[in-house]
Amino acid sequence: MTMFDNLKILYHQGKQFIPDVRTAKVPGIFRGRPVITSKSIDEQALVELCPANAISVRPVSIDLGRCTFCGECARCFPEKISFSTDYKISTNERERLIITEGDTNPIIVNPAAVRSEIRQLFSKSLKLRQVSAGGDNSCEWELNASNNVQFDMSRFGIEFVASPRHADGIVITGPVTGNMADPLQICYDAVPDPKIIVLVGTDAISGGGFADSPAIDRSFLDKYYIDLFVPGNPAHPLTIINGLLDLTREK
Ligand code: SF4
Repeated sequence: MTMFDNLKILYHQGKQFIPDVRTAKVPGIFRGRPVITSKSIDEQALVELCPANAISVRPVSIDLGRCTFCGECARCFPEKISFSTDYKISTNERERLIITEGDTNPIIVNPAAVRSEIRQLFSKSLKLRQVSAGGDNSCEWELNASNNVQFDMSRFGIEFVASPRHADGIVITGPVTGNMADPLQICYDAVPDPKIIVLVGTDAISGGGFADSPAIDRSFLDKYYIDLFVPGNPAHPLTIINGLLDLTREK
């Protein structure tokens, strides 16, 4: 291929990477942080239409740890609920994933709740082992995309490794099936201290549509401090990358 061919590709396709993942814009169809107005609506009908049991009332709120971002609530009650394109919805506080009407504040990683060793040790290099604990390969796919040429998470020193012995933490996807409970524990135990736990996607955060299934065993999650919740169904690479950056380094 000649240089002319390369220039032609650059001209037609533009940049092949996102120069700044902190300020990148996503298309308007993307559903990020919801905005809930104080308009009066039939709240019971709103609760009943949500397939994920993510909506509560008095006041109306959406739990992003349960929401599948299907958009049905916004489609049926546009005067009450809309979804912004704000993809920075990762947090280290589970309760911050509950968006209540009138709440337009950004969702943040609370620096006061970040364990001190995380920023001391992992601000320049973070190696992660991914555990798909009954996942459907959607969040796994987006984690993979986080390191593709477009999102290029490795430019920040954040990468996935094959062995938990080489990792600084684990990234869990899926609702944690009974069959994956032991392998998850074995993998976590193999990661040297100090180590972090990141939950990516609705299924990992709340069990999602499988929350009441007898086939899941989420006891592992009750035992340890969760360092980061990354909502989405699946989570967007920009949500994943910004969450990990906010967790591991100062702004
Ligand atoms: S977008 Fe979320 S809150 Fe709204 S109906 Fe779908 S799952 Fe429920």
